[in-house]
Amino acid sequence: MDIRPTCLVIADISGYTKFIRDKQLSLLHAEQIITDLLDAVIDGAQHPLRLNKLEGDAALMYATCGDDVAATVADVATQVKKFFALFRKRQNQLIISGDGGCGCDACTGTGTLQLKVIAHLGDVLIKRVRQFEELAGEPVIIVHRLLKNSVDSHEYLMMTEAFHAFANQETRDERKEDCDGFEPQTVHVYYPETEPIVQSCNLPGTKLMPHVHAYMLSARGHLSRLTKPKRKFSNLSSA
Ligand SMILES: [Zn+2]
Repeated sequence: MDIRPTCLVIADISGYTKFIRDKQLSLLHAEQIITDLLDAVIDGAQHPLRLNKLEGDAALMYATCGDDVAATVADVATQVKKFFALFRKRQNQLIISGDGGCGCDACTGTGTLQLKVIAHLGDVLIKRVRQFEELAGEPVIIVHRLLKNSVDSHEYLMMTEAFHAFANQETRDERKEDCDGFEPQTVHVYYPETEPIVQSCNLPGTKLMPHVHAYMLSARGHLSRLTKPKRKFSNLSSA
């Protein structure tokens, strides 16, 4: 057992709970889509940042700080900011590959999903039992409590004061958040600028293999160029 200054990061996907109707197919597909998106985000985490566990629609990651706490936090902050682009890239791939396929609430709602990330720094007890690592201590509770906050957006990185002090990241939104059972926390919120979400033209039940689909999309583009009139012959009709 070991108590060390540790960066804690929760990547949380939101958007589905509002409209997924209680259908088995939707729930199953929602689970697959969330897992896929979380996987894309976790894939972007590199040493010293690592996955601790999945918690429903969220992933808890951590990085134990070496002697140079500032260097670890700055490294984690840089990695975490890239999560948003990875998330959007995978999300757009899912929308395109699922286009014309399943019409369930989950599949047609992939574009409504958003990513928020909470990052904190504090002394964390790391307990190792066989291959499992249990994180304990107040910072672990605080980072979870901050998932409920006053930010009026679903896509942002929230850094606590402790994390932000070393993160080397400029933000324009500093605020205080209530943190049930603890002092209100000063936080700094960064809003990422990501690629837009691709528009789906979903026609359920007409699912094509991804490569056929890609071909169809390019064929559609060719076709619209070919059928677009190049010249207007208004001078002929008036003759
Ligand atoms: Zn589906």
